[in-house]
Amino acid sequence: MNKYLQRVLTQTKQNNSNETEYLQSVEEVLTSIEPVVEAHKDIYEKTALLERIVEPERIITFRVPWMDDNGQVHVNRGYRVQFSSLIGPYKGGLRFHPSVNQSIMKFLGFEQIFKNALTGLPIGGAKGGSNFDPKGKSDNEIMRFCQSFMTELYRHIGQDVDVPAGDIGVGGREIGYLFGQYKRIRDAYEGGVLTGKDISYGGSLARKEATGYGLIFFMREMLNAHNNSLAGKTVTISGSGNVAIYAAEKAIASGAKVVTMSDSNGCIYDPAGIDINLVKQIKEVERGRIKEYLRVYPNAQYIESRSNEDSPVWTIKTDIALPCATQNEISLDSAKKLVQNGVIAVGEGANMPCTLEATNYLLENRILVAPGKAANAGGVATSAIEMSQNSMRFYYTFEEVEEKLDKIMVNIFKACKQAADDYNHSGNYVMGANIAAFKKLADAMIAQGIV
Ligand code: NDP
Repeated sequence: MNKYLQRVLTQTKQNNSNETEYLQSVEEVLTSIEPVVEAHKDIYEKTALLERIVEPERIITFRVPWMDDNGQVHVNRGYRVQFSSLIGPYKGGLRFHPSVNQSIMKFLGFEQIFKNALTGLPIGGAKGGSNFDPKGKSDNEIMRFCQSFMTELYRHIGQDVDVPAGDIGVGGREIGYLFGQYKRIRDAYEGGVLTGKDISYGGSLARKEATGYGLIFFMREMLNAHNNSLAGKTVTISGSGNVAIYAAEKAIASGAKVVTMSDSNGCIYDPAGIDINLVKQIKEVERGRIKEYLRVYPNAQYIESRSNEDSPVWTIKTDIALPCATQNEISLDSAKKLVQNGVIAVGEGANMPCTLEATNYLLENRILVAPGKAANAGGVATSAIEMSQNSMRFYYTFEEVEEKLDKIMVNIFKACKQAADDYNHSGNYVMGANIAAFKKLADAMIAQGIV
């Protein structure tokens, strides 16, 4: 490996030794941009460009006290990692999940810088959230938590400063409570301060659908480039949240058959094809568990599984696998099962759903891998379209937003393909995505001097 790259990787490991997810994301990026670093090593080393790109501009942690419905007070930890404002205001979602810690926030923030650069839109990279568990909480408890969280966060964000959105555990309901509290404290209507808003008060049509739809648009482009298509393919999906639901919906509309979905308790397998409207009813309206699918389709199979890794989803024979739940959900073992069962493509709806070993194994076996940074960028791209509508005080129709999203995903795929081809790694879109994004960021860093 290039000596400078190796040194930065070693230093980053030493300085962040207990942050495994963050180190995993840094290692993936740094190892795949080696040819670019090799070509510019003098200027990059002299300006400590890699040392600067792996160090967040700012990390904010704060106390979030809140009261449950029985009058008991609880305390959670809030985070905002403002990783890079190089090409636009900090931008990235908020995650509410008990597993949230600084390592997960930093990995997500780091990924976000590259993803946002790939969209071609003026947005920097950030991530935030809390180790709060929204599961089983009443609406009032969620509201009190969100209000307390925003009472600290508001001083660090703004529509030209930092624009959070949703992620795991943060959907339309949470964004609504967060926005209400921000507006109340600021005493001003700054619509663009959060994205993923409901359309009744400034949200964008098609934002809810954007990450999942965008994933399928990227998959369509990738398959086309290899003389293949989604029509008639079997698709396995993990997760049953925002990304999973709309990926399934668009995959079905593209002529594929989706046979699995899951949540953190288990997965459903319906060889006849998942009824996505029923999943929406269970997950979006009733906020129930995926198991309840069997109440209408008793012949579908439910396989219990509480482990993050090695979900039963990846043991089922499929053409296309779409991990849409969480990080590291496809281990090397799961990747081997997928290859054994004849998978042709893996599309990362979630952020970093494949371990490094799993990704390398898939690539070595010539499986097409659509990397999350590129393939799930449709969500943040549409958030940027939401921001621009808020600034214009004007709304696009659903069709207009979907058309813009489609064009953005086509361009992201083109950029990944071009970079992979340019560096003699045709077909390796993981490398293509990292290189395309990094080159843009490196140019901006050099142009802006030592900051
Ligand atoms: P949601 O909270 O809407 O859904 C998450 C889904 O994944 C749920 O079905 C959840 O099950 C499951 N899940 C979450 N954590 C685990 C876990 N530890 N083990 C097993 N299952 C789990 O989140 P999103 O759909 O918004 O996000 C999913 C992924 O996509 C994340 O990696 C996120 O970072 C990424 N992403 C999201 C974007 C967006 O616009 N929302 C944009 C780009 C990426 P359960 O309900 O049981 O917890």
